[in-house]
Amino acid sequence: MVAEYNVYCALCSCCLGNSCELGSRSPRHMRIRRARVARRTYARSTGDQYYETEDESEEEKETRLKSMPWLREAAEADDGLDTASLADARDDPSFDPDVLSRWGLDWLDDVVALGIADWKTSQKSYFIRECAYDDRNVVYLNEDDDTDEDDADDRYFAYGVSDLPDPPVYPMHRACLDLLSRAIFGVVDVERIEKNVLYDVLHELSDFRYLSLDYGDITGPDQDWICVPGEEYSVTCPTDQLDLSEQLLRAKLALRQSTGTAQTPPPDLAGKVLHDPFRDLPYDITYQILQNLPGESVLALNKTSWTMLARTDNHSFWKRRLAQDMPWLLELPAYLEEDQEQQEQRGERRNYNINYKLLYMWLDKRTEPAYGMSGEFMGVANRRRIWGPCVEIAERYHRVLDKTREI
Ligand SMILES: [Zn+2]
Repeated sequence: MVAEYNVYCALCSCCLGNSCELGSRSPRHMRIRRARVARRTYARSTGDQYYETEDESEEEKETRLKSMPWLREAAEADDGLDTASLADARDDPSFDPDVLSRWGLDWLDDVVALGIADWKTSQKSYFIRECAYDDRNVVYLNEDDDTDEDDADDRYFAYGVSDLPDPPVYPMHRACLDLLSRAIFGVVDVERIEKNVLYDVLHELSDFRYLSLDYGDITGPDQDWICVPGEEYSVTCPTDQLDLSEQLLRAKLALRQSTGTAQTPPPDLAGKVLHDPFRDLPYDITYQILQNLPGESVLALNKTSWTMLARTDNHSFWKRRLAQDMPWLLELPAYLEEDQEQQEQRGERRNYNINYKLLYMWLDKRTEPAYGMSGEFMGVANRRRIWGPCVEIAERYHRVLDKTREI
């Protein structure tokens, strides 16, 4: 049965095929768009998901503008916009044409489906094949890719919402599938995926229009796909490579230190600590605590505990956390390796002239999927967002596979 709503990529939850509208470049339209994104950015910072400005007092507005000086110009631009203008913009959802390019959305058209062929016969087999998303929950497998001559009907329903007995297919972008295979194996190797195992995992997670997984803070995948202004990063290709060296150079980040390894904090601080509950804990225990905390929380803890600061104030800790916490930052190993080589050429022994803590903090911030973001880090942020569902699926995949092998 054809559903009354659209279905989305099983891995990123975004549109199958390029259904994205780029908005008008007219000054009025751009002004309304950016004012709205600025207001929503503020609303989200205060904990509200949506925010309407019609009843905003001058005082409230001034507070809002003061709290986000970097967006002040955009936020101020809504002066004089009447409700009709806002409604007009609200009824015309589209992405910012300065933030996204038409060609940058091509990856959305490259869609494959995981399904079962000849399921009624003893020839039943699982496939991952190129497909075309038609509408609602219908996909057509590409005939050129059809190796089974007996399979006359190329139409499949996605996500099992059909009342037909046919098993559903699970559609996804090829780029997202590459990421999933990386989450499963550590490298891109789609051929190695045991399709029956993956099918069972996705089938168990099936939830009407996508999977029952946390796809991050995006609202585009609704009954119909909505190009939500401010969520441009969610449709940016997650496998495009970022030139990390170039970005670091551009940011002129002081990642390099001229003085040694900074293994310990200034010694005079130790005597000034009056009470630190972590001081009496053995190193092994604090190590376990730190291992289970996200990097952001470690940094927060460092502000309250001198002991924890001292025990994490070394490059090897942060270098390890970079690898542990940012497996989706595929550009990082090459960057570090290149840096290592350059040091060896200079005759330096240890790769400790990068301030890994600073590097961690900078990367964590820049790659964070954030409403209203723009620029070169959008693809990496989207990759970081998609990595969450991929890891969840990868863990389930391994669990099912281990169980199968035990039998
Ligand atoms: Zn996807």
